[in-house]
Amino acid sequence: MAASLDTATTQPMPAAAPAAGGDARLPSLVGLTRSGLSEALAGIGVPQRDLRMRVGQLWQWIYFRGVRDFDAMTNVGKGLRAELARHFTLARPEIVSEQVSVDGTRKWLLRMPPTGPHDRGAEVEAVYIPEADRGTLCVSSQVGCTLTCTFCHTGTQRLVRNLTAAEIVAQLVVARDRLGDWPGAARPTDGLVPDAERAVSNIVFMGMGEPLYNFEGVRDAVEVISDGEGLSLSRRRITLSTSGVVPMIGRAGDEIGTMLAISLHATRDDLRDELVPLNKKYPIRDLLEACRGYPGLSNARRITFEYVMLKGVNDSLAEARDLVRLLKGIPAKINLIPFNPWPGTRYECSDWEQIEDFSEVVFRAGYASPVRTPRGRDILAACGQLKSETEKLRARARLMLESGIGAEGLFVAGEAD
Ligand code: SAH
Ligand code: SF4
Repeated sequence: MAASLDTATTQPMPAAAPAAGGDARLPSLVGLTRSGLSEALAGIGVPQRDLRMRVGQLWQWIYFRGVRDFDAMTNVGKGLRAELARHFTLARPEIVSEQVSVDGTRKWLLRMPPTGPHDRGAEVEAVYIPEADRGTLCVSSQVGCTLTCTFCHTGTQRLVRNLTAAEIVAQLVVARDRLGDWPGAARPTDGLVPDAERAVSNIVFMGMGEPLYNFEGVRDAVEVISDGEGLSLSRRRITLSTSGVVPMIGRAGDEIGTMLAISLHATRDDLRDELVPLNKKYPIRDLLEACRGYPGLSNARRITFEYVMLKGVNDSLAEARDLVRLLKGIPAKINLIPFNPWPGTRYECSDWEQIEDFSEVVFRAGYASPVRTPRGRDILAACGQLKSETEKLRARARLMLESGIGAEGLFVAGEAD
């Protein structure tokens, strides 16, 4: 663990500010798809013939301008604005805390509105990684993860539910709020924000959860995020990372259409079975076959293969050679990820020299700049370190399940592979 915690700043945020322009108990329109918005408007009596136009107007205000108050929507009549405010809000998830790492990485712990009387509200983390000319937001697709990769902190969290598309989109909206990434808004003065037109220029689904186990949620969220009249982040700037849910990979290419990253981490099935237990179901050969068939794959649209560097486990030079052999013929990038430790893990990060030697083998085989610099380690914001406080709900959820009350959308992970 980095010893620089004292230089990072943590700001517990003030208790959820009452949603501007409305009662926090009302549903928020933020994060809805066009059809979701249309349904919401129809539900409060907006005539069928006006729906398209009204959705277009709201879309601009919510996703292009980022407004937080219906009263700002100047091209929407006063009467409809009041009606909207009576039924809906433009509230964002509550920011429970914001941490800024010494390297400028920001991590937000967000609390989603409760899904029912027994749910206090799921907590998820989103991480912002600024670089000189771009800013990447790492979003979560689930609360926790049902998979149990042995090197991943999220995998030790047992309480899991899928995030809705709106909850995924809301992570970007919150990031834009905090980074002043709306037209005319001011950038924060603390931490680094790139000197680019957009503070958030890229999105990676590399936070908590397995995105292909939340297919519809992720698909709809990508539809909202990539819409050219709103948040407008092109699908080529969005990367979906999967641990290898083989039957969903082709569909993901067809229906989601983002860039793809595969968490490979091993070159032999016996080792991958141990590191990524899903491998027992979908072994390496099937996984690579699915990759070869990924729709849209070309030299300009390569698949990224992620490989976490675990000391003495998967970091030999023989494995580096196996890796390039295995990927032969697939338009690929290789991303070596130094292992990010977390409390209680049994792994260590490979020595820096070993990572360099490994990357040299990969480099000689024609793959450029493959080592991912660890970011935000001091605030446990790096890959695989995410694990929210929702864990604490576990005992309570179990109790509810046992007493037959049900836990409103929360389920305790049982699937080990
Ligand atoms: N579930 C998806 C996406 C989230 S994990 C997946 O597994 O691909 C995002 C990336 O972080 C994956 O490549 C994952 O293997 C990697 N990762 C997980 N724990 C890590 C850790 N402790 N150190 C470094 N990388 C880690
Ligand atoms: Fe889940 Fe990905 Fe972590 Fe594996 S690495 S436990 S799939 S979040």
